Amino acid sequence: MTRYKLLTVGQLIDGTGAPPQKNAAILIAGDRIQAVLPHPPADLDESVETHAFPNGTLLPGLIDAHVHLTVDPGAYNTPEFIWARNDDQLVDLGRRQALQFLNAGVTTVRDLGARHGVSLRVRDDLAAGRVTGARVLAAGPAITTVQGHGHFMGVEVANHAELAAAVDQLIATGVDVIKLIGTGGGVTAGSDPLQPQFSAEALTLAVERAHRAGRRVAVHAHSAAGVRNCLDAGVDTIEHCTFATSQGVAPDEHLIARLAEQAVYVIPTLAPWYVLRDSDDAFLGFPQFGLSPRRMSDQVLANLDQMRRAGVKLTIGTDAGTWKLTPARFYDELEGFRQAGFSALETIAAATSVAAQALGIESEAGTIAAGQRADLVIVPGDPTQDFSVLARPALVLQAGQIHPPDY
Ligand SMILES: [Zn+2]
Repeated sequence: MTRYKLLTVGQLIDGTGAPPQKNAAILIAGDRIQAVLPHPPADLDESVETHAFPNGTLLPGLIDAHVHLTVDPGAYNTPEFIWARNDDQLVDLGRRQALQFLNAGVTTVRDLGARHGVSLRVRDDLAAGRVTGARVLAAGPAITTVQGHGHFMGVEVANHAELAAAVDQLIATGVDVIKLIGTGGGVTAGSDPLQPQFSAEALTLAVERAHRAGRRVAVHAHSAAGVRNCLDAGVDTIEHCTFATSQGVAPDEHLIARLAEQAVYVIPTLAPWYVLRDSDDAFLGFPQFGLSPRRMSDQVLANLDQMRRAGVKLTIGTDAGTWKLTPARFYDELEGFRQAGFSALETIAAATSVAAQALGIESEAGTIAAGQRADLVIVPGDPTQDFSVLARPALVLQAGQIHPPDY
C-alpha cells in the first residue's frame, strides 16, 4: 500500500533559482513527490501522515558533487592514512561519512576517488538499505599516471592502451562516472599541479569510451594548460579549475569564455582552502609553490567570482575527506559561494538543480516537482534572510523516508 505524507511549510524553494513560494505544501506518495500544492488542502484523508513546519523552508535534498567518503578528514597526511588502512576499514569510514552527509541535508554525493572498489561497496550498501546515508554515485579509483597525483588510491596508467583498458575495466565493474587526474595536485609528493598528466588526445580517448558506455567524465585540473585539455576533449565536469600558476591563481579570460560557451560544469571546491583560511600552513595550500590556505582561499574566491560573471555553470562540491573537511563542513562550501557573489537562491541552485544536471540525475533529483524522487530538506527559517539556517536542517527526507538529523 502506498504511504502518503503531506508536508506543509512556511515557504518552498524549488531549487531552480525561482523565488520562494509562501505557505506551500507537498504531497509525497511512497518515494516520489506526487504534487506541489499552492496551499495546504482543506480536508485530508486521515491515512495521510502530516508534518507542519510553519517557520520552515522546504528545499530539494542537497547534492555534493565532489567527495571522498573513504578518506579521513582527521588525517593530516592523506597518503599515509590510506597506506595504513585495509579496505574494510575504508568502507566503514565511508558508511559513517555517508550518514553524516545525510545529517547535513545532503541526500546525494558523488565520490570522485577511492582506493580499489571501496566507494562502490559503500554505494551498494546504501542502495540496498543495509546502512543509512546519502545516496552515492561513485567513480571508484581515479585514473592517474604512474606515480601521478593520487596514485596511492588510484589506477596508474603508462600509455593510451592502458588508459583505454582502465576506462573499460572500471565501466565493467559498475562505476557511475569516470574520474581522471588531468594535472598534478597538492597532496601528492613530487606532483606538479601545473603540469598536465594527460594530453587532450588521451582525455578524448577516455571521453569517447566513457560516453559510449553512458558514463560521464570528471577531470581534476588546476593549471590553464590542464583546463584547455579538458575543453578540447569535451569532458563533462572540471574539478578545481583553479588556473594555478607558480605565483598563485591567475584566471584565464579566454578559457573562462570557452568554459561558458561549451557549457562545461565546473566544480571549484573552495572548501579545502576556505575552511582553513586562517592557516598559513603551506602543506595544506599548494606546498609546491609555498601558497598557504589563506592565500589560496582569497584567490579561488576571486576566480569563482570571475567565472560566475562570465556565465560558467558552477556547482557545489566540497572535496570532503581532505584535512578538516568533514561532511558537516558542507555548509562552508555554500558560504564560500555567497562570499564569491552568489545570491542565496543562486547558491541553493548550485547545490541542487545545477548539481543534478552536472551529474546527469536531473530527472530524479535537484528540484521539487511532481514525479521527482522525494529527496528533501527542511531548514528552520528563511535562508534568503538568514543563510546560516542551511547549516541546521530540521528534517531530511530521502526517497520519502523521514530522517531526523542528528548532529
Ligand atoms: Zn577530490
